[in-house]
This record gives sequence, C-alpha cells and structure tokens, in this order.
Amino acid sequence: DQHTTIQNCREDFPVLSRKVHGKPLAYLDNAASSQMPRQVQDAYRDYHSRYHANVHRGVHLLSQEATDAMEQARESLRSHINARESKEIIFTSGATDAMNLVMQSWGRKNIGEGDEILISTMEHHSNIVPWKMLCDDRNASLKVIPVSDDGILDLDAFESMISDRTRLVGIVHVSNTLGTVNPVEKITKIAHGKGVPVLVDGAQAVSHMQVDVQKIGCDFYATSGHKMYGPTGIGILYGRKEMLEEMPPYRGGGDMILSVSFDEVLFNDLPYKFEAGTPNISGAIGMGRAAEYIRSIGYDAIYQREQELLAYATSELSAIEGLNIIGKAPGKSSVISFVLDSVHPHDIGTILDLEGVAVRTGHHCTQPLMERLGLVATTRASMAMYNTEEEIDQLVAALHKVLEIFR
Ligand code: PMP
Repeated sequence: DQHTTIQNCREDFPVLSRKVHGKPLAYLDNAASSQMPRQVQDAYRDYHSRYHANVHRGVHLLSQEATDAMEQARESLRSHINARESKEIIFTSGATDAMNLVMQSWGRKNIGEGDEILISTMEHHSNIVPWKMLCDDRNASLKVIPVSDDGILDLDAFESMISDRTRLVGIVHVSNTLGTVNPVEKITKIAHGKGVPVLVDGAQAVSHMQVDVQKIGCDFYATSGHKMYGPTGIGILYGRKEMLEEMPPYRGGGDMILSVSFDEVLFNDLPYKFEAGTPNISGAIGMGRAAEYIRSIGYDAIYQREQELLAYATSELSAIEGLNIIGKAPGKSSVISFVLDSVHPHDIGTILDLEGVAVRTGHHCTQPLMERLGLVATTRASMAMYNTEEEIDQLVAALHKVLEIFR
C-alpha cells in the first residue's frame, strides 16, 4: 500500500472522483462534513464484517476484539489531542452531544441563580442553546463577548466581562462561519487567572491544526468525527480528569454502573460513567482511524496546503465584482464565507450545485453572529487538504454563471 502524502491524498477519497449533474464534483463543504478516506471506510467495514459484537460485557472473542478496537480508538484520540490519560476521552455522538454533556452534568451541578456563563458572538448554536436552556432554568445569565466587523474576538472586552459570578467560559476554537482561529490558550490563561473553567468547541479545529489540550490548558474540549475525515454520529469530549471526576453522570443505564440494586446504584469509573448504553462502536473505531490518517499525513503539510488553497481562493473570489468576503481575521482557517451583490445565497447554492460545486448556504447555525454582521445568510466554501486549485476555478466559473443569470 502506497504511503499517503499530501500530494496523493486525493486518491484515498473515492467520492471525489464522482460526477454531480454531469459535472465533476468540486466538494467545498468540508466544514459541514469532510469526506472519508478508504482507510477509514476499511476499518469500519472490517469491524462489521469480522468482529461486530457488543463491547465490555462479553467473554467471547468477538466481543473482546470489539472492546480492544474501541479502546485503541480512544487511545488514538487521546494521543491525537495530547490528553494525559485515555480516561479523559469520553465518546459522544458528536460535538453537540459533548457540549450537552458538559451542560447537563457539570452545568446542572455548578450553575445557580445569578451566575454567569460567558460565550462569544461567534459561537455555533450547539455552544449557545445548551447554555441558554440552563440559564433560563436556573435564572442565570448568558454574557456574550463581542466580535469586530472582521470577525475578531474583543479580548479586552472578554477580560473585563469576567466577574465574580462568571462560572464558565465557552469559546469556539475555529469559527465554522468565518474561519477565525481564536487564541484559546490565551483565553484559558485569562479565565483560569480568575478561577473560571473553560470549554473549547473544537469541531472545526481538529481537521486543520495540531490541537494540544494540555498546552491550551482548557478544562473541556469537544469535537466531532465527521469533520475530521471520520464517520458521523461519533465525537469526543475531552475533560480534565479532576473536572470529570467531580461531575455526576447525567444518563443512566448499562455500562455506566458498577452495581445496581433498587436501593443503591454505584457508578462506574471514568470514562464509562458518562457512556451509558451500547456505544457507537464502529463510529469510535472509524474516528480513531481517521485521527491516525491525519497523523500519517502530518499537520504541517495539511496546514501549508490548506493555506495555499485559502490564499488562492481568496484572491480569485476577491476579483469577482460585487463579491464581499465575510470574516477577515489574520491567520484564519480555510473557510470563506461571502455575499454576492443582492443574490440570495440559496439561489447561489442551487446554481453552484448544478455546476457540480458543493457549498453551504444559510446562517451556518450561527444566527446571532449573522445578526451582529447585519446578514441573514452567506455562501460558504470550506476547503480540506484534498481540494485543488481547479475546483476553486470551477467555483469561480460557476459564480460568473450566477452573475450572468442575475445581472
Ligand atoms: N461547533 C461548530 C463550530 C461546528 O461547526 C459544528 C458543526 N457544524 C458543531 C459545533 C456541531 O457539531 P456536530 O453537529 O457534529 O455535533
């Protein structure tokens, strides 16, 4: 098997050679879900065809193999984000589920009347809605760090907004709408200086950059498999052991217990006390394999290639008259949101699809950010390591078609 490098990685993704409406597919919707390489598909298929069985309970060989593979995946993900111990990695159904875990368990234990939770204007709904639900339930308040017109977080405002009632800072690592990379290490340092724990939403970070949770210093880090070349329906919550140990389970059932009687339930140790019921075994194996795939190519190569694509796409798109790029933070990730004259993004997306170009249009689950920027929707092209300059040319040509139709 030929070793994958950044130059030949495209060959690992069978879907990229298909046609859409008779045109070659230009897949530029990677911030929604990236595609799966055959290595991940093979791991997934191998599990289903050779050792599909329930984990943790069986003495039979298939169950042991499934358990080993799932725990190896946990270890792969531990090392991927440099957590200290694999018990700090909790499998969830995605980043959304990971943040809800923090809300339901840590939040319900620690948030009371008059407390404050500090998040930013550029959060994804999954790092807003759980906290809004909890604040409404507890008579606590949600405070919001402002962002500039270019999509940069106001760090001075952030610092001044931390009060003696602030109980948690929740911050997105990389904005799915703007590509802004937030200085999460610095943010954590500031918050910890005032005794406030930090949750980082890393759904958009792990496919693009080396994440080191110890270096960031955060208390929680959430991410999803399907945004890092893995399957859907799987994600992880990293939690610092000291935090997780203090947190109560929030879903009861099998696997999360040591013993059960009608009088008393004793809960299992980490990480299992947060993993009630049969987990997404194949998903975990796939996500672990996806992390290995990323490591085999290397973040330096991935980052360099994606930044090349970002620079090319930025310059080509900027040359289109009437096109405005939304989000201009220096050092941003390979995501370009834009508006084009008065053409509605939904119409743009529909025409691009007919030209084989897959992008996302709408508010990208960041309605408060859209409102702050005075927009209802944008068109978003998001690039992964396997994209090409030709695909960006295809996007640009399709946008010229849009303009021919609407001008
Ligand atoms: N946070 C961000 C920044 C995201 O982009 C997404 C996915 N769009 C999520 C959280 C939620 O991830 P999932 O839907 O996989 O739970």
